[in-house]
Amino acid sequence: SKPIVAVIGRPNVGKSTLFNRLTKSKTSIVDDTPGVTRDRIYGEVEWLTHKFTLIDTGGIEPESTDIILSQMRRQAEAAIEAADVIVFLVDVKTGLTDSDMQVANMLRKSHKPVVLVVNKVDDMIKQVMGVYEFYNLGLGDPVPISAGQPLNLGDMLDEIVAHF
Ligand code: GDP
Ligand code: MG
Repeated sequence: SKPIVAVIGRPNVGKSTLFNRLTKSKTSIVDDTPGVTRDRIYGEVEWLTHKFTLIDTGGIEPESTDIILSQMRRQAEAAIEAADVIVFLVDVKTGLTDSDMQVANMLRKSHKPVVLVVNKVDDMIKQVMGVYEFYNLGLGDPVPISAGQPLNLGDMLDEIVAHF
């Protein structure tokens, strides 16, 4: 069966935007309100000779950082359980956060393949310094992308399929 890739990360980092780009569908809900994706959504992706199932994750109740964190923990646990490769998506505009650090700790302990992807790098030259701080997560080289533009998605996909 096809490999499963799960996208996890804080509300509003661009998980659903990325999902929609890769699956060329409008299945997932993109909204300026953090946490608007209510369920796990599955899509099919083809890259070169590879096919995989992509899972978008989301949640409700964006107001409190405690709830965001507990939601992210559940997402990460589910992804560690079900996915072959985890895409941990972070946001260069908000920068590194405490909840990013805590989820990174869970991911490191899991020994699952993780691709650390930094989204919203709409200008690869001006925002390059902002990408470096994500080395502190201890998950290897951060891959800068812009799901919105889009930019650098091919490099990210190469990193993902390299783990199959
Ligand atoms: P999710 O909560 O992680 O699923 O995030 P969404 O995909 O719903 O996106 C949250 C917001 O970030 C929306 O306003 C998107 O348009 C915006 N966004 C997503 N990707 C990018 C990007 O690459 N660059 C910029 N500037 N904004 C983005
Ligand atoms: Mg979403």
